[in-house]
Amino acid sequence: MSDLIELSSAIIDGRSSESATRLTLQLGEVTDDVAVIESFSNVVAIRSDAGLTLFDTSLESFAMPVLAALRSWSPEPVHTIVYTHGHVDHVGGSEALVAEAAAAGRPAPHVVSHSAVPHRFDRYRETQGYNGWINARQFGGGGLSGRQRASPDAPPLFPGDFVHPTRVFDDRLGLSIGQHTIELHHDRGETDDHAWAWLPDLRAIACGDLFIWCFPNAGNPQKVQRYPLEWARALRRMLALEPELLLPAHGLPIAGAERIATVLGDVADALESIVSQTLAAMNEGLPLDDVVAAVQLDPALLERPWLAPIYDEPEFVVRNTWRLYGGWYDGNPSRLKPARDAALAAEVATLAGGSATLVDRATSLAAVGDDESLRLACHLVEFAVRADPMSADAHEARASIYRQRRSGEQSLMARGIFGWTAEQSEARATKDDPGDQASDGE
Ligand SMILES: [Zn+2]
Repeated sequence: MSDLIELSSAIIDGRSSESATRLTLQLGEVTDDVAVIESFSNVVAIRSDAGLTLFDTSLESFAMPVLAALRSWSPEPVHTIVYTHGHVDHVGGSEALVAEAAAAGRPAPHVVSHSAVPHRFDRYRETQGYNGWINARQFGGGGLSGRQRASPDAPPLFPGDFVHPTRVFDDRLGLSIGQHTIELHHDRGETDDHAWAWLPDLRAIACGDLFIWCFPNAGNPQKVQRYPLEWARALRRMLALEPELLLPAHGLPIAGAERIATVLGDVADALESIVSQTLAAMNEGLPLDDVVAAVQLDPALLERPWLAPIYDEPEFVVRNTWRLYGGWYDGNPSRLKPARDAALAAEVATLAGGSATLVDRATSLAAVGDDESLRLACHLVEFAVRADPMSADAHEARASIYRQRRSGEQSLMARGIFGWTAEQSEARATKDDPGDQASDGE
């Protein structure tokens, strides 16, 4: 049995508490014709007598080590690259593969994707700055650009050029590459451009990000719409094929029909439960605030090693479901056409007797330290810095409260945004350099 499969089996069977998501940049052979390079994202390689098929190409910054790992396994030309979707960590390494083929005097690899991928690339060009900011907040530092920012004030970077698909499909596409048949399927889920592949002779599924070894990225607070119910349906369609091997784009490959049924079934159950509870509350006419409070997932589900909310989390999926089936109006009429944040903060500060009172109360609430008190502390300290943006004390309190909030959060998305906020205020907390405004561009 391959090392990767041995480890994933041990994790699923409860014999290991190691992480299934690793950035070794090493290739592991899964079967004679199937290998996985553990990167961000993984590159799944299928060997055939016509050449290699790759599912995804990882980030641009990992392209050279990924290529070296691939070439340690096979010298064969890359026949086809399949994009499971157009996220930058799945397509960024393609340029290096095209260049490798050109240097060897070989034709460039075919690149196959769902038909929405080129539209995503267009959108990335239109929102390059925005994507730089949100990825810097989510991941810290240079975001996913692979480059560090020149200085904390420099705009974050986001890639703008991509290797485009040479062939696209809408619903299904069958490919024959050497001795292997590949059936590509489209389902919306994490994205609107997702492809997953069924390889019948290997009884294998390359599932892209529809399984990521943690709670699904179905709620992401800063990014475009996700589709949780269609996501669950995609997982059920995969299960109906009774795969023996699952090849995700993040985390270890999984072998065995029963293990695959367990993990995919659990993810589908979680998504279906959140959507049905959210829709039930919406249908009762509740405002978003009540909907978020009403939806509960079985905590035991979230303790499974393949559903831990360490990246995204259920609360965000509820909000995303509201956005998908409803609109952005949250049911509180004061927020339909609200006052400016700074004007409201000034009123609240006046009522409280000054922003220093707000800072004191926020600090006391943070000292209590439970989740509800911390949520309230953040509201009050936001009022304080917006009412008095030059106050070093308010920024110092804000930095400290968000540091504390960050340390209590599990999901990378919450930790990223809270940590970023703390950094913004840390830079303004010194009296000689108060900065120019409380807003951090959100
Ligand atoms: Zn991904």
